[in-house]
Amino acid sequence: MAKCTHTLCVTPLCLVFLFLFFAPVASAQLGGSKHKGDQDKQEELQQKNSRLREKEAKKYADLTEFAQDEYAGDPDFHDRVDQAFQDLQSEQSMEAFDINTTDTEQIVVKEGDVIKIRRALYDNPRVQDYVNRVGQGLVPSDSQKLCAFKIIQSPVPIAYTLSTGTIYVSTGLISLTDNEAQLAYILSHELAHVYFDHWKVKVMDALAEQEYNRRQERKSAIYGAILGGAAGAFVPGARGGNAETIAAVGAVGAVSGAAIGAAFARRIDVDWDFVQENAADDFALKNSLDKNYDIQEVPKLYQVMTNAVTVDQRIGLGFLGNKKRIKDRTDYALKLIGTTLKPDYEKKLSASELIGTSPDYQLMMAELKRDNGIMALYFDMFDMAHKNLRQAVSLRTDDARARYYYGQVLKLVARTSADRDLANTELASAIKLDANRHFIPEAQLQRALLLIDKGDSASQQEAIQALKDYVMTYQDARVDTWRYGGSLPPNMEILYDYLRLLGETRWKPGYPQGLGSGGGMLLMAGRGGGAVPSPSSATKFDSSAKVRPVGARQAIGNAVSAGAGMTRTGGAVNGAATTVAPVVNKQY
Ligand SMILES: [Zn+2]
Repeated sequence: MAKCTHTLCVTPLCLVFLFLFFAPVASAQLGGSKHKGDQDKQEELQQKNSRLREKEAKKYADLTEFAQDEYAGDPDFHDRVDQAFQDLQSEQSMEAFDINTTDTEQIVVKEGDVIKIRRALYDNPRVQDYVNRVGQGLVPSDSQKLCAFKIIQSPVPIAYTLSTGTIYVSTGLISLTDNEAQLAYILSHELAHVYFDHWKVKVMDALAEQEYNRRQERKSAIYGAILGGAAGAFVPGARGGNAETIAAVGAVGAVSGAAIGAAFARRIDVDWDFVQENAADDFALKNSLDKNYDIQEVPKLYQVMTNAVTVDQRIGLGFLGNKKRIKDRTDYALKLIGTTLKPDYEKKLSASELIGTSPDYQLMMAELKRDNGIMALYFDMFDMAHKNLRQAVSLRTDDARARYYYGQVLKLVARTSADRDLANTELASAIKLDANRHFIPEAQLQRALLLIDKGDSASQQEAIQALKDYVMTYQDARVDTWRYGGSLPPNMEILYDYLRLLGETRWKPGYPQGLGSGGGMLLMAGRGGGAVPSPSSATKFDSSAKVRPVGARQAIGNAVSAGAGMTRTGGAVNGAATTVAPVVNKQY
């Protein structure tokens, strides 16, 4: 896994949703403004944005047409494009390979000014399958290209697409959605990049741009010369002179005319991302509606994102240059919904065909929001952690881990004794739900701490019991871990989750032969010897200093190693913020 120090030159298409995040301004404006002046200003801005959108789209279309002609007619150009695209694809295949095969380890590399975290897939196959299933259901029937939708594990809301047809969406981004319709919009947006072959176009256009500009400049220069020459011939004073004078003045005019012509040459300085992102937004709305999703949910999604970044700037890391974009995109969505898409929307609405959400979505989000909430907690993204975990426990009330971490975040940010009581309640239900499997001994410890603080004698007695229970369940869990000797799948907590959902709440696997009865080995390990079978299972309850989340071992590993990397490279003052930033360094 030593490759990929050069992943920076791979520039995933889009990272789209990130740059949505930069508009703390937009929240007040979605509902319309009360003041007429403001309204006028808004309309003016809207029109300006809409003109810019059209102008850029035109430039992009012109250049693309030129590039396609060249591609069809010039074998040399054809070869260069194919070669460049092939290089890009193999580079991005390596990126996909890295993500597919990265397990618990995350590496932080400093590349120039940028620190990059290697990403890993979210270790929950059922949620992965669900998102991919929703995504595949969105692929237009005329699409020839195969693609796959994958969830990467990161609390930072990002989404991007590789030239391989791989579509990545982060847990952080999915955790911001409220329903399947919003998820479908995000997936459709990414899908658009595959459907329109944006990577190929990008490569082709980039190679054609220089030649295109050269020809445009030459054309303009000739124009300028003609126009300037004509104008020069009529400058005052030239008239009535002799033929020589006229010619001389005309020549001066021709020179300045050429300069002006060159300056105004239609230089294509296309903002690729801007145009492709707009096209993807456009497609996403239409496609979602085609697949019967309720697109009225889209402006709400933008609103949620706006709010999220207002509360926590890290959510929009790296896109400081694009503050106005979210507003523009929301306006555009509202405009389409209110005009072009209106008849179709209303037809589907009255036929009761529109999908808002699905039972599957609720179930999956209970898990994803829990896991992302845990990760967010370890990145000190308190607001996201709090929201995600609150939603997780309300989506599914019998999830011990969700309750434990919700209790944790409540305890952490508690300001009043009422807040602490709420935390206590959550921790108590976590303990109750964990009674069979004893996965979360730390819940007892955290609860004991709350009880000790209360000071009354009943609470003190409860605290004593909780501490005893903590030590005993910790011990049981530790012994169990050793006896399993690293033989269990790494995502055991998730598998237990699936079993619980299926009604099986007590089953535990047997211990592997030749390890389980090894009392000597147990004793050795118990005395602090080195016979700890597997790092992954041994660290599970090795939490004397810091309480580690049982279910998010990987996430924490990531967070911790990211933090360590930061310290090592010395680049960061505010740890997680800068650490998370690099994911966004690509393009807007
Ligand atoms: Zn995009």
